[in-house]
Order: sequence, then structure tokens, then C-alpha cells
Amino acid sequence: MAWDFSTDPEYAEQLAWAEAFVREECEPIDLVIRESHDLGDPVRQALIPPLQKVVKERGLWATHLGPHLGGPGYGQVKLALLNEILGRSECAPIVFGSQAPDSGNSEILARYGTPDLKKRYLEPLLDNRIVSCFSMTEPQGGADPKVFTTQAVRDGDEWVINGEKWFSSFASMAAFIIVMAVTDPDAPPYERHTMFVIPGGTPGVNVLRDVGLGYQPLGGGREGYVRYENVRVPDDHMLGPRGGAFAVAQTRLGGGRIHHAMRTVGLVRRIFDMICERAVSRYTQGELLGNKQMVQEMVADSWTEIEAFRLLTMHTAWKIDQFDDYQKVRADISAVKAMMQKVLHDVSARALQLHGSLGTTHEMPFVAHLVESFVLGLADGPTEVHKVTLARQLLKNYKPAPDLFPSEHLLRLRAAAEAKFADRLAGIPRV
Ligand SMILES: Cc1cc2nc3c(=O)[nH]c(=O)nc-3n(C[C@H](O)[C@H](O)[C@H](O)COP(=O)(O)OP(=O)(O)OC[C@H]3O[C@@H](n4cnc5c(N)ncnc54)[C@H](O)[C@@H]3O)c2cc1C
Repeated sequence: MAWDFSTDPEYAEQLAWAEAFVREECEPIDLVIRESHDLGDPVRQALIPPLQKVVKERGLWATHLGPHLGGPGYGQVKLALLNEILGRSECAPIVFGSQAPDSGNSEILARYGTPDLKKRYLEPLLDNRIVSCFSMTEPQGGADPKVFTTQAVRDGDEWVINGEKWFSSFASMAAFIIVMAVTDPDAPPYERHTMFVIPGGTPGVNVLRDVGLGYQPLGGGREGYVRYENVRVPDDHMLGPRGGAFAVAQTRLGGGRIHHAMRTVGLVRRIFDMICERAVSRYTQGELLGNKQMVQEMVADSWTEIEAFRLLTMHTAWKIDQFDDYQKVRADISAVKAMMQKVLHDVSARALQLHGSLGTTHEMPFVAHLVESFVLGLADGPTEVHKVTLARQLLKNYKPAPDLFPSEHLLRLRAAAEAKFADRLAGIPRV
């Protein structure tokens, strides 16, 4: 009977250490640096690398990576338990060597890069000596890759890339960009695109502007609006086969989505603590907010939703470990992905409401959390698309009813039951 929610003592000790480290060392850094990815910021450079060294010595660096890439090859359940701690702090993922988009990009490079590309980019990327960018979404739409038009055309032993990409996070500071471009416009829609590496500083890569999120000041931000103008890359900068970009992209998405969910568990738990502290601190009309039933409902609903989300996330992580095949957990991952937006949205909206006017200000983090809930509902595919995937996967397991009435129609079931017990009930008077 294996149905066990306990953590082995050795790993529990590591988690306890990580929890204290994130609270005491990472959370304060979030308040003094602008952008944890910006290797050019001296304040960031003074604070983050020393912590990364401590994490490496502790054996918790890049725990998402398998031994082939120098990581410990933790399964997803162990990762989930660690990631939910890292989710408390903006900079913790980079302190622990598991930040997006570098984590996914390193997996792509490891699997599809030439030895030369790996030498140039993989090792420094895994060590956070450089940062990278994944450039797929286009201004005319991200949820439907069939509308992407950025093109790569063969010219001798080079490819020439032209087009525009939108929300290419960290494009301005990336040492290389992984870009998706149409190479075979006449092929079926999902075989038209190919993935390429563009080295940073290649002529023709023009970041038109860095777009910021709603709570960031105008002029701030890290979401690159990029125009590629006659950008030339050699043939060996292609990642995966020609026309194989979607399969390459999947390398990063399966793990990436569940890792976001794990970190979101940590974030919503932190927000839940703020809800509860407010409920037991603030008086109105002579009593604590926490004594009011509608506030109690907010506390109860938040806790229940967070725990349900955490269990779904952990169970999905466990299934990934069991099956070692993301195709078999597509429905589960889509469910987690859709639930993630709703839980973060609903819990942070309640936290904002309970903090009253203060909750709406830039002196509390709730507006950023609310925007973040929408970010989670967009990046790596909109919630609607994931719900459709989930429903389709679930409906595949069902057959139509045998006739006009459902298979569970009570008259049908009773007739079957009567037939089943006919021999044993023969001659027994029925009331
Ligand atoms: C903070 C942040 C960082 C990002 N980083 C990157 C990055 O590094 N690289 C990158 O390439 N992209 C990145 N993205 C882009 C992200 O992948 C896209 O936002 C996403 O794919 C949706 O594309 P879109 O924004 O163009 O929205 P659209 O495609 O215009 O969709 C808008 C809305 O339409 C609805 N919709 C869309 N499709 C359907 C459907 N099938 N059924 C029902 N409703 C639907 C949904 O409500 C959706 O939100 C990032 C996005 C954010 C917010």
C-alpha cells in the first residue's frame, strides 16, 4: 500500500535549509534589485552570485537538470517541494539556477545544439554567466502559431532571418536568442517552422523597445519587441530538424509549465499568510476582520483552493516521475496550468480587498500579483487553450450513449438489475 505524503528526512532537512535561506537571504534582495536577470547591474552582481555559490555548495544548484548536464536529476516531486519554496521570492529561481527562460533553453541546447554551440553557450548558461531569450510570439498573435510570419530563407550555407517578434523576454540582455522562423511555408502548418540560435550582437537584431508590465513604470520592462532584419546565421545554428520547431519547443514547455505551477504554490501560500495576518490584525466596527463571516469565507476558500491546487500539482509531478513521458500527462498539465491562473487571481484579489486602500497601492504587492496571474494565464499558452486540451483529452475516454437515453438512465439500470437477479428473486414477493 504505497500512498505516502511524507518527505524522506534527508531531503526534508535540505528543504528546511532552503526555506530559511529564501526567507532570510533572497526575499530581502527582491526589494533592492531591479531585475534579477540583469548581469550588467552592479547591485545585482554584488548580491546574487555570492548566494549562488552557497546554493552550489549545498548541492541544490540547477536541481531540474539531469546528471548529463551536471544536475542531481531530482524527480519532479522533489523539484515541486523545492520550487514551492522558491516561488516565495522573485530572485530565488536565479539564485538556485532554475530561472526561466534559461532552464528551458538549456534543455533545448543540450538536446539539439552542435558541440560547438554547447561549448559556447550551454556551460556559461548553466552557470548563469550569461542569460538567454526564447523568441516565438509575434505581434499579430501568440496563441496561434499558424499566424507567425518571421521567415528564414536559405542563402548558400547561411540562413537569412526577417520578421518581428513580441514579448521576447530578456532579448536586450541575452547572449543568444532561440528564434522560431518559417522555413517551409508550403508544408503542413506544424511542419513549417524551424528553430535557430542567433548569437547576441548579430547585425540586424534590433530591439525596438522593451515593453513593461502594467505595474512597471513606462520605460521599464524586459519584454523585447524585436525586429529581425536580414539576420544571418550559419547552417549549423539550426536546432533540431528543418520543419521541426514545434517538437523542439515542446522540450521546454512540458517541464516549464509544471515548474511555474510549483512556484505559484509558494507564492499563493505567502499571499495567504498576508490574508490571515490582516484578518487577525484589523478591527472594524469593534471587532476583528477575522470574526466576520464573509472574511472567514475568504480565508476558508483561499486555503481550500490552495491545497487543492497544491495536491493536483504534486500528483501531476508524481505522474511525470512514474511515466517519464509528458504526452501521458498532457491533460494533467493543462489542468494545472488553467487552475494556476485562477488560484493566484482569486487569492491575490481577496488579499487586496482585505487590505483596503493600502491593498491597491504600490506599497503592497497585490496589484503585481494580480497582473502576474494574467501572465500565468498567457505565457506557455492561454488558459482557454489549456481547458480545451483538457476537455478533449478527457472526452476521448468516453463513448456515446447506446440510444436516446443515457447509459446511466435509471429505468435502464433497473431493468438490467432485475435481469441479473431474476433467478435469485424468482418467487419472492416484491413490495
Ligand atoms: C510576461 C510574459 C512573458 C512572455 N515571455 C515570452 C517569451 O519569452 N517568448 C515568447 O515567445 N513569448 C512570450 N510571451 C508571450 C506569450 O506566449 C503570449 O502572450 C501567449 O502565447 C498569447 O499570445 P498573445 O499575447 O498574442 O495573445 P493572443 O494570441 O492575441 O490571445 C489573446 C486572448 O485570446 C483568447 N484566446 C486565444 N486563443 C484562444 C482559443 N483557442 N480559444 C479561446 N480563446 C482564445 C485568450 O483569452 C487569450 O488570452 C510572454 C508573455 C507574457 C505575458
